Amino acid sequence: MAAPKYKRILLKLSGEALIGEQEYGIDPSIIASISSEIGNVRKLGVEIAVVIGGGNIFRGLSASEAGMDRTTADYMGMLATVMNALAMQDALEKRGVVTRVVSAIEMKELAEPYIRRRAVRHLEKGRVVIFAAGTGNPYFTTDTAASLRAMEIDAEVILKGTKVDGVYDTDPMVNAGARRYANVSYMEVIQKELRVMDTTAISLCMENNLPIIVFNIMKRGNVEKIAQGKRVGTTVG
Ligand code: UDP
Repeated sequence: MAAPKYKRILLKLSGEALIGEQEYGIDPSIIASISSEIGNVRKLGVEIAVVIGGGNIFRGLSASEAGMDRTTADYMGMLATVMNALAMQDALEKRGVVTRVVSAIEMKELAEPYIRRRAVRHLEKGRVVIFAAGTGNPYFTTDTAASLRAMEIDAEVILKGTKVDGVYDTDPMVNAGARRYANVSYMEVIQKELRVMDTTAISLCMENNLPIIVFNIMKRGNVEKIAQGKRVGTTVG
């Protein structure tokens, strides 16, 4: 088997990816399939950290638009990511993959607090680290958390799992003629508002030269292919 391309990757999963065919919450079959894929990538010897979103359960911005205090709503959003992280941990450990949930908001009964050196040590020991509670701060997103943590743990790439095959010039769900980029620059993403990640997350990656691969997480085998260096989705760099 060819050596994997990467030694350490950060996988960003949006909460939406976990919904599956449902309208809300976590689809057990989706989380099972993603966790088996993570397990396969671990078997290649790649170290993996996961940042998980919460939009399938709660979004701070939507709740604040409906009248809730934004900071409170954002903390609720961060709690939603913790629920997803625990579900992911459960699914991974059922497959024999050793994991640690590391939370940016201290919740010591169910997750470790975030300590960078400790998280890196887990990765070195082959454990899958699941980062929960985003950055721990309101007004941010889990995309920004993914960029920040990727930098902190020295990940070589962010794999941003979505429901579409990459970055398109227009919305492929709406426009059948939408064209997918194989490569796109950070600046183009920002200027053309291509909705890969929010601007804070993209500019953090840009300033630190961290590539982002946007790909379809619903297609089995994609994470493994990327880990092996095969071209999948769109590379933002
Ligand atoms: N959130 C936050 N700070 C963070 C990360 C997340 O306040 O650092 C809150 C925010 O309210 C957000 C919610 O958590 O709406 C869920 O995260 P996000 O929307 O990024 O999840 P995703 O879109 O990836 O499912």
